[in-house]
Amino acid sequence: MEEGTNVNKVVRQHIEMDNFFTGGFAPKGHIAGAEQARAQEMVEESKAGLEKIAAEVGQCRKCELGSQRTNAVPGEGNPNARIFFIGEGPGADEDAQGRPFVGRAGQLLDKIIVAMGLKRQDVFIGNILKCRPPGNRDPKPDEIINCLPYLQSQIELINPDVIVALGAHAARTLLDTNKPIGQLRGKIHEYHTGIDRPPIKLIATYHPAYLLRSYSPDNRRKVWDDMKVVLGELGLPVPERGKK
Ligand code: URA
Repeated sequence: MEEGTNVNKVVRQHIEMDNFFTGGFAPKGHIAGAEQARAQEMVEESKAGLEKIAAEVGQCRKCELGSQRTNAVPGEGNPNARIFFIGEGPGADEDAQGRPFVGRAGQLLDKIIVAMGLKRQDVFIGNILKCRPPGNRDPKPDEIINCLPYLQSQIELINPDVIVALGAHAARTLLDTNKPIGQLRGKIHEYHTGIDRPPIKLIATYHPAYLLRSYSPDNRRKVWDDMKVVLGELGLPVPERGKK
C-alpha cells in the first residue's frame, strides 16, 4: 500500500462497496486480511494515543484552570470515529463527572446524534478547553493557546472524516476567524492538520446550549440542516423521521 494511504478510509470504502452490492452491513471479515489487520492496529494505536493524552490532561497545570477543576474532561468516544464533535469547554456537570457533554446540552447533543441514525459510542466528543472555566465564563485566549495542542493531537489520532464545531468558540478557534457563528454555519470548511495530510471537512453549527436557550423552530431547522450536510459528507442516509 502507498506511503501515507489512510487505511481507515480504505477499509470504510470496502465496507461501503460491500454495502452497496449486498444491501447490508458487511462483516469486517470481507476485507482483505492484511488491510483489516493494519486497520485494527491503527485503531489500537489511536486508542493508546488518546489514553496517553487523557493522562497528560489529567496532570496538566499549564493554566489556572488546572488547579480550579474537580476533574479534567479530556473527551471520549470511538477512537476510529468518522465524526468528531467539538464544544467549547466543560460545564459544572462535566467537571463533576470528568466526561464531556453530560449535562442538559449533552442530552440534547445525544438526541441530535440519535436523530442522525448514530449512537454516542460511534462518534468522538471533546472540547477546546479540557477544564471548566469558573462560572462557565468564556475561555481566555491564553487558556485556548495552552489547551489546543491536546485537541490537535486528538484530531490527528482519530483522523475523522468530519469535524462538527459546536458553537462560536469552537468554530472560531478551529477556523482561526472572528466571524459570527451565523456566518460560519451553513458552509463546508476545511481543517488542516498538516501539509502532508488531506484537510478534514469542518461543519459549524449552533451550540446545543444556545439551542436550548433559543429553542425556536428556525434554529432547530438550521442545526438539523447542518447535520444533514454532515450525513451527506459521510455518504450516510438521512433517517426518515429527521427528513422534515
Ligand atoms: N458545553 C460544552 O461546550 N462542552 C461540554 O462538554 C458541555 C457543555
